[in-house]
Amino acid sequence: MALTKEQIHAISAQMTQDVSNGTISSSSCSGCCIFDDINDAINTAISAQAQLMMMSLEERGKLIEAMRQAARDHAVELSEMAHKETGYGKIPHKIAKNLLAANKTPGIEDLHPTAYSGDDGLTLVETAPYGVIGSITPSTNPTATVINNSISMIAAGNSVVFNPHPAAKRSSQRAIEILNEAVVKAGGPSGLMVCPKEPTMDTSAVIMSHPKIKMLAVTGGEGVVKVAMKSGKKCVAAGPGNPPVIVDETADLDRAAKDIVDGASFENNILCVAEKECFVVRSVADALIAKMQSCGAWKISGEDIDKVLRTVLINKDGKYVINRKFVGHDATYILRESGVSFSGDPVLVIAEVDRYHPFVEVEMLMPVLGIVRVNDFHEALSEAFRAEHGCQHSALIHSTNIHNMSQAARVMNTTIFVKNAPSYSGLGFGGEGHATLTIATPTGEGLTSAKSFTRARRCVMKGDFRII
Ligand code: NAD
Repeated sequence: MALTKEQIHAISAQMTQDVSNGTISSSSCSGCCIFDDINDAINTAISAQAQLMMMSLEERGKLIEAMRQAARDHAVELSEMAHKETGYGKIPHKIAKNLLAANKTPGIEDLHPTAYSGDDGLTLVETAPYGVIGSITPSTNPTATVINNSISMIAAGNSVVFNPHPAAKRSSQRAIEILNEAVVKAGGPSGLMVCPKEPTMDTSAVIMSHPKIKMLAVTGGEGVVKVAMKSGKKCVAAGPGNPPVIVDETADLDRAAKDIVDGASFENNILCVAEKECFVVRSVADALIAKMQSCGAWKISGEDIDKVLRTVLINKDGKYVINRKFVGHDATYILRESGVSFSGDPVLVIAEVDRYHPFVEVEMLMPVLGIVRVNDFHEALSEAFRAEHGCQHSALIHSTNIHNMSQAARVMNTTIFVKNAPSYSGLGFGGEGHATLTIATPTGEGLTSAKSFTRARRCVMKGDFRII
């Protein structure tokens, strides 16, 4: 039975009272969602989830609509905050990501019960919530991930304890606050989305080991995925990628050049799906590079390649890692800091390199794209497969040869495979299908949505319920 609006408001008012009495310490009473003590945050989320379960599906749907609207209304503010806080990407692209998450993350319509009817009666399988989910979010899409995860997880009947990346905590917390306020205004419980005031590895460890948190969703690099998968909890892990793009001799080169420059420069390449290296068939390589230059790419060669390498990558015991100072920064900033002269306002740095070059091997997360010339499609495919490092995340091809396109999709075996479009179309941005900012690669849920955050429950009735 659903609680009345008055009952829900009474519970919310009581919780707000608890906060002001000091029973629960929160730094923000507006949404009752940012807590000094991570255990208070978790307890609040437990209570809010119990209240959510007392609401009808129709009421839950209204909460989701209110969250979407709030995210749209604050898309610009959140984008500016995230950009100011992290220095990553570009404000218009962040706005586009926030709106994508607000508009194209599926809501309660994503949950489909299954019924089996036969001689033995009726069986119903329903998508039930896990309860409270612990979500660890990245610095690269801080607010869009909070919007996307919140809609997906709450549509599925859960509440969420976020542990945002410390470098993006303020914008992440603001997104959490805005969504909470929208839920409360729409008649929902306070504290469906909570987080610690100071997210750290310690708060992350509390979340990952808390007995009442039954599921984890982690979006980030290799380190956090490894830790979460060792937690012993059900885990939806969205890990790193190194997406290669193949261009064969049958490609529409004008389109390929524009799409690659657009995809690889979007948000200064911080998207995990973005083109990170390119393998082009020799016979069309010069033409592709020339067309990319006329679409806003700046080609570096000779010692300029080494200058950029020494600036943006750090050699740690023989292994290159990215210098965080350059992650998500403009191509012009990278060129300037590297001491490379250029003209105009390029959005992407391109460099023709060998197949083992760090610009190919490393997940750069900045607008620097290594281009490798290969003899034919087959060589392109085997090199692309190697460069993806088994992440099974994303890959792309530009071709008009249907056989090459199918073979590449099969061999790459990635969660997202994009043909003849920029990488972001794989996220549902200018491509068909729903959107997510949490692409669960190692654990296999793929492009997550509400149903990814549910557990299947079966109810069996023997006998008379059938109508035929
Ligand atoms: P990051 O790995 O530095 O941080 C991600 C989150 O994990 C942060 O909240 C961070 O505090 C936490 N974290 C990191 N190491 C941890 C550990 N050992 N224990 C507990 N928590 C830990 O990633 P980032 O730089 O913020 O984001 C970029 C990375 O995330 C890239 O590798 C990118 O490919 C990946 N990413 C993947 C997806 C996806 O959907 N698959 C989406 C966005 C980003």
